[in-house]
Amino acid sequence: MPLNDPNHWRTPTRSIALINQKGGVGKTTTAVNLAAGVARLGRRALLIDLDPQAHASLHLGAEPGPADLTVYDLLIDTDARADDAIIEIEPNLQLIPSLVDLAAAETELASEPNRQDRLRRSLAGLQAPPEFLFIDCPPSLGLLTLNALAAVREVVIPMQAHFLALQGVGKLLETVGLVGRGVNPQLVVSSVVLTSHEEQTTLAKEIVADLDAFFASQRQTDNPWRSARVRRPAIRRNIKLAECPSFGKTIFDYAPKCAGAEDYASLAQSFVREWDSLLERIRERRASGNDAETPGPRGGVTVPDEDRLGAS
Ligand code: ADP
Ligand code: MG
Repeated sequence: MPLNDPNHWRTPTRSIALINQKGGVGKTTTAVNLAAGVARLGRRALLIDLDPQAHASLHLGAEPGPADLTVYDLLIDTDARADDAIIEIEPNLQLIPSLVDLAAAETELASEPNRQDRLRRSLAGLQAPPEFLFIDCPPSLGLLTLNALAAVREVVIPMQAHFLALQGVGKLLETVGLVGRGVNPQLVVSSVVLTSHEEQTTLAKEIVADLDAFFASQRQTDNPWRSARVRRPAIRRNIKLAECPSFGKTIFDYAPKCAGAEDYASLAQSFVREWDSLLERIRERRASGNDAETPGPRGGVTVPDEDRLGAS
């Protein structure tokens, strides 16, 4: 969209941070394949690799050289432009990559003002905001994750239905609640994506039932997770999903007919469908004159001023 288009700033972006402070729960697998799935549906998706391990970048076969801009530069150097860090992966799929040097960013920023707001400010400068923004977060609740929470509207929690999973979710929600009250009052936890799922096991069934009951008990609260739910269907355990990162390919390129490709395609469809119906509801409300104007952008990455994302 050209910069002089009067609708430029209105481009609505569904912005999602994939967060879980536990490692190995499927954050990166979900970030990469969900972004690719959305792109395959013809929607422009931007994936930000915010993990110093750079797994998402490797998964997409992107290896930035020393001269290339990465998310580290966007956090440290306020003059660096987010547009210059973008790598085109395939049609509709863009990546802002990461390198191991990102690990140093937390200490380098330790005494900087607005240190948790660096990523949001940088993304605000994007010339053409994407329709879907996904941020793959590191397995911790440190400054990098805070930057993700400040930059998005929505949190999605990838997790495995394992013993102790619920405790981890509690801790995560506590952090999201604090951030919500502080840097980002609009933040909403929309959903949990179950990964590596083995739904026939009793343990998995029990944990999913506990999660459902927990979220149902939150509906009347004013917590940022009051509309959250466990998404169905879950992503099944599928060996192809574990294999494809070594080939630098998404599941759709590596094994397009496997269960993993099928599950991520339906997940992507559900995100796109929800978004389309949300935008449609907003258009209808506008047309009926019942809606206040969408407020100005939270930077270039905007979402319509709407109730709770992801609520079905
Ligand atoms: P995180 O980013 O949370 O650390 P990853 O996405 O890297 O987690 O996943 C951890 C490991 O599990 C990786 O080796 C990944 O390939 C594998 N994996 C993720 N999802 C699945 C799945 N549905 N089936 C099988 N293996 C999976
Ligand atoms: Mg990861």
